[in-house]
Formats: sequence, structure tokens, C-alpha cells
Amino acid sequence: MFGTSWRVGRIAGIEVRVDSSWVVIALLITYSMYLRFSFLYKDLSTGAAAGIALLAAVLFFGSVLVHELAHALVSRARGIRVQDITLFLFGGATRARVESRGPGDEFLIAAVGPLTSGVVAGLFWIVDVFARGALPRPLIGMFGYLAVVNLLLAAFNLVPGFPLDGGRLLRSAVWRATGSFRRATRIASLAGQAVGWLLVAGGVAFLLGGNLVGGIWFAFIGWFLVQAARASYQELQVQQILRGVQAHDVMAGSLVRIPPDLTLQDAVDRYFMRYDHSAFPVDEQGRTIGLLTLRKVRRVPSDEWPTSRVRDHMIPLGDQVVVPPDAPMDQVMAKLEDGEAGRVLAAEDGEVVGIITPSDLTRWLHRWRTLDSRALDSRALDSRARWEDSQSPGR
Ligand SMILES: [Zn+2]
Repeated sequence: MFGTSWRVGRIAGIEVRVDSSWVVIALLITYSMYLRFSFLYKDLSTGAAAGIALLAAVLFFGSVLVHELAHALVSRARGIRVQDITLFLFGGATRARVESRGPGDEFLIAAVGPLTSGVVAGLFWIVDVFARGALPRPLIGMFGYLAVVNLLLAAFNLVPGFPLDGGRLLRSAVWRATGSFRRATRIASLAGQAVGWLLVAGGVAFLLGGNLVGGIWFAFIGWFLVQAARASYQELQVQQILRGVQAHDVMAGSLVRIPPDLTLQDAVDRYFMRYDHSAFPVDEQGRTIGLLTLRKVRRVPSDEWPTSRVRDHMIPLGDQVVVPPDAPMDQVMAKLEDGEAGRVLAAEDGEVVGIITPSDLTRWLHRWRTLDSRALDSRALDSRARWEDSQSPGR
């Protein structure tokens, strides 16, 4: 779901990022605010309208961020490690690893989001009502508008379709009622897909009625929701398949190793151009001391390749890239996500015995699915989940 994203800062120790898709939407929203304010207040100069639009957009995204922070802080208070908050498309997502928690935590973490948006709406409404007369009319109008938008944000998020907050509330309820996390996720995901298709249908109806912008907007949000609901259930299936699987089950074992004193030129000519690998373990006297990746080589200008050594540009073997061969796959997945190498090495007593890349994992999963799709139902329940949600700006 995420493309390129940039880190913009930290709040309360939680990393905040913006996704590349967000930039486009942020510009669109600022522009639509500008159109709104210059239409409503005709005596406003272009500069003043642009300024208010910008302020409104900042406060809107601030509101989304506060909503996400609420999820993140409650997660953390319940002992769940929060990875980051990412602003994307028309909302935000808080990512955390929820480990073996019950429906109670799920309920709390989900409920606090819409609740916070409701409180934020109330605050903007208070400014709207009590600052009348003290502030210029367009500014008051802006606060009133933001109150409505936040209320819509809360309402949209309460729609019972996963991965929206309402879908999580539904999941926690089914989880509590049936005791089955898997069934609860399946039902909440199906509800999410149903809501998504309803929005798409609504969008088509708008389009047929001649409302082009509204139609596209609804259809787009609906389509996004369908995809997100489907993906979150598939992700759970993957986690269940990988339960009990260890690094050595998935890793590619036939390794091609390169010596540390080779020049980058030789490494390129004799290894990267010859083998179908984009990383090689670096071995010195039978011990693996690092990993040379194609990405690292590309950062060195090609006229320096004949004089540069592999040793000086390899990624040293640290905890970030190494796991024991019997490491559970969720540990491997976490390192694949976080590490700079984009791959994980399995090592025993300092000797590397295998390598796992995301494509190894995909291939393995594909094989497993073709061979043994029925075994899924017999696997034990897994209560790990990934926290993600999204919201609409309320258009
Ligand atoms: Zn939320």
C-alpha cells in the first residue's frame, strides 16, 4: 500500500512519515479550500484566500495526525510497539505490531481514533462559536468548516468495514463473541469490501447524475477500501502460513561468496554481471564478514570501481541482517522490513548458511499455496495483526 515515504519528524518518540501519494492530495485539498474560501467570501483578496486555504489545510492534516497519534499512544500504553505513523492519500495509518492481545485492546485502540476526531471537532466548534466578532468572518468560517470535516472524519471511520476503525470495532466484537481472531478478521474484511463496493456504486450513481468530482472521489475511496480490506485478510493468511516456519525452511542455500580484497570492478564483472543475485556474502578465511549489495556498489562512481575494495563498501554483519537458521519467520519479516540490506542472512557460529530476500519469500509462499492450500484451516489461530487505517477528508 505504501510507495516511497519520507520521514518528517518525531512526535512523542513516534516517527512521522509522509507518503509520496500524500503530496498530490495535499495540494488538491489546499486548492479546493482556496476555491471554497474565495467563492464564499468574494471580498477576500487572492493572497488572503490562499493564506486561509493553507492554514485550513495545515489544520486539517494536523487533525488527521492527532487522530493517528491517539491510536499510537493508546497502542503504546497497552504495551504494543508502534512502528510509525504515515500520512498517505486521504488519511493516515499507524503501524504497530499487535502481539497476542485480546479483543479488549483492539476495541480501545480502534475507538480512541473517532473519539479524538469528535473532540477535535468540538474544539473547532468552540472557536467558531465563541470567537465570533473577535476574528475576521472568513477565519471563523474556516473553523466552522474544520469542525464539520472532523465530525465527518469520525463518522466515516466508524463505518464497520475493515481496515477502518469501525471495521476494527466490528472485529473486536466478533473476536470476543467467537473467540476466533481469524474468523473475526475474515468477517470484518468482507464487511470492508462490501462497504467499498457500496461507495464505488455510489460514485457511479454520482457520475451518472452529472457530479463528476464527487463521483470520482467516492469511486476512488471505495476502490481503495476494497483493496485494503482484501489485503489485510491476505496478510493475516500469510502470517498464519508462516507460523511455525523457520528461516532455514525458506532461505536459498546455494551461496556464491566473494573475497573482501576484490576490487569493485572485479566484483561487478565476475559476480554481479554473471549471477542472478543482487547481493553476495563477503568471506574471509571461511568466515562471513559482510554483505555486498548492488545498491551499495551503485553509490560508488564507476570510475572509482577499479581502485575501491569490496571490504570498504560492504554492509558489516550485524544484528540487523543476521538471524539464526531456526529463527521464526516473523523475526525475519521484521528485519526484511527494517534493514537497509533488503535481505536477511541466516548464520550459525559466524558462518552464513543461507540468504532470504523478499522474492525468496514470495516464491516460497506461492509454492506453499499451490501445494497445500487446504492446510490453512488446520493451522492454529494467530493473534498477530498489523494496525493500519485510513480516513477520508470528508468530501
Ligand atoms: Zn483511525
